[in-house]
Amino acid sequence: MKTHRHFINGEDVEPSGGMWLDSIDPYLGKPWARIARGTAADTDLAVTAAKRAMYEGPWAKMTASERGKLMVRLADLVEKNAGRLAEIEVRDNGKLLAEMSGQVAYHPEWWRYFGGLADKIEGAVMPIDKPDMMAFSRREPVGVVAALTAWNSPLLFIAWKCAPALAAGCTVVVKPSEFASVSTLEYARLTREAGFPDGVFNVVTGLGEEAGAALVDHPDVAKITFTGSDATGARIYAQAARNLKRVSLELGGKSANIVFDDCDLQQAAAGAISGIFAATGQTCIAGSRLLVQNSIREAFTERVAKLAASARKGNPMLPETNIGPVTTAPQYRKILDYIDVAKAEGARCILGGGPATSPELPGGQFVEPTIFVDVLPEMRIAREEVFGPVLSIIGFDDETDAVRIANDTIYGLAAGVWTRDIGRAIRMSSALKAGTVWVNTYRAISYMMPFGGMKHSGIGRESGIEAIDEYLETKSVFLSFAASAPTNPFIMR
Ligand code: NAD
Repeated sequence: MKTHRHFINGEDVEPSGGMWLDSIDPYLGKPWARIARGTAADTDLAVTAAKRAMYEGPWAKMTASERGKLMVRLADLVEKNAGRLAEIEVRDNGKLLAEMSGQVAYHPEWWRYFGGLADKIEGAVMPIDKPDMMAFSRREPVGVVAALTAWNSPLLFIAWKCAPALAAGCTVVVKPSEFASVSTLEYARLTREAGFPDGVFNVVTGLGEEAGAALVDHPDVAKITFTGSDATGARIYAQAARNLKRVSLELGGKSANIVFDDCDLQQAAAGAISGIFAATGQTCIAGSRLLVQNSIREAFTERVAKLAASARKGNPMLPETNIGPVTTAPQYRKILDYIDVAKAEGARCILGGGPATSPELPGGQFVEPTIFVDVLPEMRIAREEVFGPVLSIIGFDDETDAVRIANDTIYGLAAGVWTRDIGRAIRMSSALKAGTVWVNTYRAISYMMPFGGMKHSGIGRESGIEAIDEYLETKSVFLSFAASAPTNPFIMR
């Protein structure tokens, strides 16, 4: 079993408290690696290194074009190591190798995109209303960034957060989830190989309440970028407010996937499956509420249930597997609890509804793909994020009804619309309160497109050009070319 230390200032560093955590392979249900259990002292070491690199070290002296070139070099290295990184991620979080291979193969595009953007961060010369002055704005890096990430796609989150942060000229300390840290540590070694100066990219592992909280509280961290649950996000937001830190949050969802009776039913059924059963439902964008027009509800439900029933559960490393294990033991219990609550509240379970057990599923963390019908909007299963392979099917009459039900949630991360009517597609995409709306597709992402949530699903956007704004401050510079002193220095000019 390999032991992984923190990655601080370009070096592997022992945890100061001498404590370690096991990383469990969720498919086998056994520890497969050991990670450092970081303390406030370790966090301080990492933030100090990041601060030094940013304000005194070579990073501070590099031109934006030089920074961009390093980022593109990192993209090439990630590409070269994609297979290895994907396998590590699967050992750590149990998601399908097929899914993770695709994610890691796509990952370098964020570094190329933001690497290319690094030397295009421009201020402006303003047409100032003062005859003896010129004025311009500068866009400056916000400072040391703390990136706290969830266990479901750790490497993707590094790209989403660190590529724009480094392009902006910031340095970072990443605190991955204690359930899936190894891929982030292996990744850190690639930043060293790419030639990033020491201290630019640091990783401290450990528990959220220990290493994570210490990072959020650290006085030299200027900006926190977080991906995780809304409960933790709210706590971090409140904690960060004490020091008025900049915060962006990517949180949970209860996304509506809306099927109209005029759509291509085959495509929509595949989209419904992809929305909730891909990644064992452990994605923030899960289409966990399937809204189906009442005219086709029964037939469409049957079609989706048939497809879901044929999904193969098994070893996430094998290409034929469709559904892997639940990543963590607490998450497994949470999913089963929600299934019990849904039954108790009167939702009718037409598929699954409990743990999946068989000799081919060794780790004991599999859940049957589960479908509930007769779900009422007020039931907890229709309102709270399950983060597992559990679908609630809800009927609707028309567009107005669909929009009302879809928006009746505290969340606003994503939504899907299935229709052949272009007018309806446009009306729906403007009426839905969600950061992303997919029409006749689901789960598409791009480094070019902003991603983020409305309402309780988050604050700020990742990916796309505007993501870089999350890591920049604007400074205004007034420059006087007056030949003489002001006549009255006691009044504002
Ligand atoms: P989580 O909130 O439990 O943990 C996320 C990270 O925060 C981890 O690194 C954890 O160690 C850390 N953390 C926990 N408590 C902390 C504290 N008090 N101070 C500082 N850090 C702390 O989330 P999770 O269980 O890892 O991930 C699942 C959640 O993430 C789901 O709700 C899911 O919807 C959400 N998610 C959102 C997105 C998105 O982009 N919107 C993407 C993926 C996952």
